[in-house]
Amino acid sequence: MMHLIKFDNHNWRPVAFRLIILLLLLLVSSLAVEPWLYAAEDFAGKRQKMIERDIRDRGIRDPKVLNAMSRIGRERFVDRGLAGQAYEDHPLPIGEGQTISQPYVVALMTEALKLKPGDRVLEIGTGSGYQAAVLAEIVSEVYTIEIRKRLTEHAERLLSSLGYRNIKVKYGDGYFGWEEHGPYDAIIVTAAANHIPPSLIRQLKEGGRLIIPLGSTIYTQILTIVTKKKGDLDVMQLGTVAFVPMVGEAEKKR
Ligand code: SAH
Repeated sequence: MMHLIKFDNHNWRPVAFRLIILLLLLLVSSLAVEPWLYAAEDFAGKRQKMIERDIRDRGIRDPKVLNAMSRIGRERFVDRGLAGQAYEDHPLPIGEGQTISQPYVVALMTEALKLKPGDRVLEIGTGSGYQAAVLAEIVSEVYTIEIRKRLTEHAERLLSSLGYRNIKVKYGDGYFGWEEHGPYDAIIVTAAANHIPPSLIRQLKEGGRLIIPLGSTIYTQILTIVTKKKGDLDVMQLGTVAFVPMVGEAEKKR
């Protein structure tokens, strides 16, 4: 037995040691290369220009929204190959036929919700996780639901690696909301539907705001904001937008 242990020590320790060193080197280099790849381009400069040109100059004035969007690297929410386009004002593909919304629309929807720091917000359609990050920079609690598993897992990993501890991501059909954490001060639906899911209205606080692209799920929709007032809904239309359709239960009810 003793002999066997000695044999082990002499032959395997150096090999195991080298293997561990090699693994550590690989880990350190992969961690070091990632920020370096992103640092190579002037994303901060592009971001500031985008905030001025596409957001502030087009009428978004809420400093909470402008500051939140100035702090978030949108390039991290798209594929590496698309990072160069991250600060152009248009949607970008995020896989599975889905898109990350155009920065101006993200700003418009976020501002319309009139958020306060202590608010609890529900998002339907996590997608890349970018809108959830914008919300999380402003409010204390964000709950977000995504119906596509791969996107859910990707967004969850990314948001946690970026340090967002106030976002909870769930895989499921957002049509039914997330009752457990409600009622919400605000609800944002980032996929198009031809009606407002009734569960979402139920999970909205009195005085709460819900924003949704409402109308045809094939062409364009009207960005609609409703405020819950004494059981009734105060409705305001903000303009035309084009979102990907809400799938699942929303498609069955017409
Ligand atoms: N807010 C996202 C973009 C949304 S794209 C971002 O910042 O990147 C719309 C997303 O809604 C897609 O990812 C789509 O899979 C998701 N979706 C569609 N129907 C849904 C449903 N019923 N419940 C939850 N998510 C849904």
